[in-house]
Amino acid sequence: MGASGHAANDHASAHEHPHAHENHPGLLLLICGPSGVGKTTIVHELIRRFGGLFSVSATTRQRSPQERDGVDYFFLDEPTFQKWIDEDRFLEHAQVFGRSWYGTPEAPVRAELAKGHMVVLDIDVQGADNVRKRIPDSLAVFILPPDEPELLKRLRARGREDEAAIQRRFAESKLEIARATHGNTFDAFVVNDTLPRATDEVSAIVAGRLADRT
Ligand code: ADP
Ligand code: 5GP
Repeated sequence: MGASGHAANDHASAHEHPHAHENHPGLLLLICGPSGVGKTTIVHELIRRFGGLFSVSATTRQRSPQERDGVDYFFLDEPTFQKWIDEDRFLEHAQVFGRSWYGTPEAPVRAELAKGHMVVLDIDVQGADNVRKRIPDSLAVFILPPDEPELLKRLRARGREDEAAIQRRFAESKLEIARATHGNTFDAFVVNDTLPRATDEVSAIVAGRLADRT
């Protein structure tokens, strides 16, 4: 996941921030949810509507044939990922499901926020937790599937992995949903039943937050 989008946007530039020394006037939007739930699809539509940047994460996991380095992710080997950690280049980083490492490069996020643009992160629940600690006025939305069979169907529809990997992600998805619904990281939960409805609901939440900030 995590394709990039880029467009200018004039939202939220005059916001009075409670942590003014941190100087991030744009809205940082965290979109979380299980693999296959529709995050990438929703985020593309949000960027189309509001402008802003879809943050490209770094990862040590293997690139699938459909993915492009530098567009969907920065695909790094472990020594390079460790070097980025040592150089303090990540806003947050985490090992997701004890497998691969993922991290959000900080510089592009800060640069876009400083310009008053929206920045969207597609990260896991622990990543969202860590970002909220550093940037408390970020907006965190968790996307839920309408039901489990539909999630499994969408994981298969992505056509990115073999059946064993799909089943593993499906099992992990249930854990991620439990983690999200039992914690207090999220401002809102949105069911992605139909794409237009779910996108409208997330858009309304974003618009509400942008309106509060002016
Ligand atoms: P994620 O980024 O959360 O892994 P994707 O955006 O890649 O999920 O979506 C997974 C698959 O589900 C894609 O094939 C996408 O077209 C499809 N999809 C997304 N939202 C819906 C929806 N509301 N109804 C049916 N299919 C959907
Ligand atoms: P996938 O391998 O399916 O692309 O992503 C697996 C999980 O890693 C998803 O839950 C996704 O949101 C999360 N993820 C992607 N990028 C990052 C990141 O930079 N940081 C964190 N913490 N999680 C990420």
